[in-house]
Amino acid sequence: MSRPVAGVYGKSIVVTLPGSPKGAKENLQAVLKLLPHACLQATGADSRALHGGGVEKLESEAGVSSSSSHDGATHSHGGHDHSHRHSHSHSHHHGHAGPVRHTFDDLVSPEANDPLLGPARRHRSSPYAMLEVDDALALIKKETPALQIITVPVDVSLVGAVLAEDVTAAEAVPAYRASIVDGYAVVVPTDGSSSAGRFPVVSVTHASPSGEQANLFAGQLSRITTGAPLPPGANSVVMVEDTTLVVSSKDGKEELIVEIRAEDVKPGENIREIGSDIEVGSTILMKGDQISATGGELGLLVSVGKSDVKVCHRPVVGVLSTGDEIVQHDRPGDLTLGEVRDCNRPAIMAVIKGWGYEVVDMGIASDTSDSLEETLRAALRQVDFLITTGGVSMGELDLLKPTIERQLGGKIHFGRVSMKPGKPTTFATVPVKDNDGNDVKKVIFSLPGNPASAIVTLNLFVLPSLHIASGVTPAGLPRVPVRLSHPIRLDRQRNEYHRVVVNIGTDGSLWASSTGGQRSSRVGSLKSANALLCLPTGPSDVLGKGEKVDALLMGAVRVE
Ligand code: AMP
Ligand code: MG
Repeated sequence: MSRPVAGVYGKSIVVTLPGSPKGAKENLQAVLKLLPHACLQATGADSRALHGGGVEKLESEAGVSSSSSHDGATHSHGGHDHSHRHSHSHSHHHGHAGPVRHTFDDLVSPEANDPLLGPARRHRSSPYAMLEVDDALALIKKETPALQIITVPVDVSLVGAVLAEDVTAAEAVPAYRASIVDGYAVVVPTDGSSSAGRFPVVSVTHASPSGEQANLFAGQLSRITTGAPLPPGANSVVMVEDTTLVVSSKDGKEELIVEIRAEDVKPGENIREIGSDIEVGSTILMKGDQISATGGELGLLVSVGKSDVKVCHRPVVGVLSTGDEIVQHDRPGDLTLGEVRDCNRPAIMAVIKGWGYEVVDMGIASDTSDSLEETLRAALRQVDFLITTGGVSMGELDLLKPTIERQLGGKIHFGRVSMKPGKPTTFATVPVKDNDGNDVKKVIFSLPGNPASAIVTLNLFVLPSLHIASGVTPAGLPRVPVRLSHPIRLDRQRNEYHRVVVNIGTDGSLWASSTGGQRSSRVGSLKSANALLCLPTGPSDVLGKGEKVDALLMGAVRVE
């Protein structure tokens, strides 16, 4: 077994199994045959008599052999082995001589609320330190797990990805000497004498793959289209606008003699030399470059025939709503008393998708510890990042933090931030085994349940973490100074992230106007909002019209 956890409580044998079905099955199979023996002992059988024949006798009675009991379950994949139940004492055991006897309580931070203790024994003030936003962001930077590097095909799905390698051009662009205009390939004098004159049209070159071309000599013209390969010997191209047709064939369809009117055509005009756009062997993109949707980076990759490329893996993000009161947004019929339509999940999924990350709908979890644990485990098997909303306040049904710490063995890096809205925002990482048996860390952001709080904290904290994980720099929303279009009241204690519309004025400066009521339940405060104002706390109560404040841009600036 990878990490067996078993013990005796009174006369009960406690065997915990990993969370993944595969791991659970393997581990259970490994101990099943020996359980009857363990049960006999636990109920008080005479172990001296029981163990008389030594290990061999026990194993043969149980139908296991030493070798098979070893290879029977050496690996368990996925999930955790920390699926503890809470039938244990809460005392600590640090005073022992010799090896420290670890109890379950050693494994979780002492801060964690035990959800099984009920409302009367929950904490009445949050045990989590209140962090400043910058300190919370620093922890995100430190604890967001390192990137994986993957090789992916070069296609449109690359947009948004960050390169994990420098890319050099294996081919030159253009790959042949090409004409820049429609006109006539010529051999112009190199001694400065006039290029004008009447010449026979001896060949035609179109922009299409063609075999051998005949040599062009001085005194001859070759009609050529834009992008077509120059005939060997040609040293310049004269555009059709600078020529006149002199003699055509009898049927009038072909040009026989054309006059070049331009007198000073120099060698090299209107020619794209080999590699003049992209030199073979040159570095076209650098590690850390992001493939944008403007086409430049992808254009470079495909132009030189790059078929696959190393990029930073972009996290797959699961989105989960929690709360017994939350119902699917399109559940038909009227709401019954206490029901709330799920606003957060669709809204958050839209935002994540807009940021270019794959998003997975994890549904709604109810407010019970077991349901939550099961849902979180299932989610963490599928995704790299999990975003939950609700269940992080101080109510007795706010189970996210204890479930992450106690049931999942995760680490909560912060559980409270001094900001408005979004105080209970929680950031955690959970150690799991991936499908190949590697130890990896998954990220959980547990955001407040109120929709405006959830979306503000999503922008403020989750985006930087996603950026760090996927190699995007700088991480997070761009910060720009703006001026207030009207006075705004300040909060005395907490920095406020006030939803605003930012316009670019005719003077070229940015002006911010509030979207109105900022209560954390009012998702409408985000309607049309393209920025979050970073309002400082007091000392004065109000910032006046025209005052400068920083804003975090969530969307494109509007033009007035
Ligand atoms: P909680 O953090 O679970 O105490 O939730 C705080 C508030 O947000 C409560 O009024 C919840 O009903 C509300 N809320 C939680 N989740 C959602 C959701 N997915 N959609 C809309 N409101 C929610
Ligand atoms: Mg709730």
